Amino acid sequence: MALIVQKYGGTSVGDIERIKNVASRVVQTYNRGNDVVVVVSAMSGETDRLINLARQMTPSPSEREYDVLVSTGEQVSVALLSMALHNIGVDAVSFLGHQVKIFTDSAFSKARITKIETEELQKALRERKIAIVAGFQGVDEDNNITTLGRGGSDTTAVALAAALNAEVCEIYTDVEGVYTTDPAICPDARKLKKISYDEMLEMASLGAKVLQTRSVEFAKKYGVRVLVLSSFSQNPGTLVTKEDEEMEQVVVSGVTYNKNEAKVTIIKVPDKPGTASKVFGPISEANIVVDMIIQNASEDGSTDLTFTVPETDLKKALEIVKKTARDIGAKDVAVDENIAKISIVGVGMRSHAGVASKMFRVLSDEGINIMMISTSEIKISCVINSKYTELAVRVLHKAFELDKIEVTEE
Ligand code: ADP
Ligand code: ASP
Ligand code: MG
Repeated sequence: MALIVQKYGGTSVGDIERIKNVASRVVQTYNRGNDVVVVVSAMSGETDRLINLARQMTPSPSEREYDVLVSTGEQVSVALLSMALHNIGVDAVSFLGHQVKIFTDSAFSKARITKIETEELQKALRERKIAIVAGFQGVDEDNNITTLGRGGSDTTAVALAAALNAEVCEIYTDVEGVYTTDPAICPDARKLKKISYDEMLEMASLGAKVLQTRSVEFAKKYGVRVLVLSSFSQNPGTLVTKEDEEMEQVVVSGVTYNKNEAKVTIIKVPDKPGTASKVFGPISEANIVVDMIIQNASEDGSTDLTFTVPETDLKKALEIVKKTARDIGAKDVAVDENIAKISIVGVGMRSHAGVASKMFRVLSDEGINIMMISTSEIKISCVINSKYTELAVRVLHKAFELDKIEVTEE
């Protein structure tokens, strides 16, 4: 008998029939003698609907009340799934984040899990109950409800799997696993049999929303075996696991895109020591994560400083940057929201040369201008005009022969 954590995403619990389908899958695992903890997301579209309600009420809602509101979607799904299980005669009990307890810091709307108490869950499991836990939410030290950022139910599931020392964390979604790129925009995308934690971490943080980045960080840190698979089929999914030699032979294993960043340029920043820290200090204090940064060469004692931030933080970032620009005597601040970051990821890049130049050539052959570039050991990212996103993904996918990767045998 093993302890298995299963997570079902929004589409998988999108309506009553689908919730019944989830219940019957959960029961199959339970009836094999396993202990089962299930994490569920809000029904598809629900979190967006709630965010929209907040926007209609006020352009700048209280961060605390925003989380009280957007966390409610998951409360609906845990209750409905418990009822579905009761209907088929199985004992199940629902838990909200604060009932588990899943403790987080107080960074509303992007809180990080700090500690999980498992006593209540263990008690339910001892009584042979299926525990259904609301994803995406936690509670801070002051008893406020917090949420973990979009896609946060993945992190709830992996963190619970780590805390409970589960045998595996199964992430059920609307595709059959992790693909070489988003199958929604590239029909040639291939399902990977397995992927290393590091590659998955890069892919997630570079836009492959199939797993939330934090969930992969947890998985890597605690060695949780994560299996990504579909709640609509019985086909084998993708195992996220430790790197092996086979993986290193593939130069590029994935192409990702992210359209949710904006580019900010501070024009004519005086070129003297301390300026960068004056610009980025207040932004990081506001808990905004700056991604790529470019500083042009100084010509007349001043330079342009360009960086990207998540679109959701743009308003807040601009307020700060405009003030800093005035303080340091810069000329102006310009914004471009029509950008996309296209990345190629692969552990094999460590040992293969010429990957970056090939990427630049492929984009230039299509007449796509590269605005910013950043690299790490196992990824290369380029910022381009967002209207070329799909084209760039497809040509890179083809150029690096990802369409030729062997399809997983079913
Ligand atoms: P869930 O609601 O189950 O959490 P998400 O919508 O968050 O599902 O994530 C699944 C989606 O991620 C897929 O429908 C797919 O379009 C998208 N996706 C992006 N990149 C990839 C990738 N490399 N592999 C698989 N899916 C991807
Ligand atoms: N319901 C939340 C969202 O839509 C969390 C999740 O689905 O993982 O972002
Ligand atoms: Mg998701």
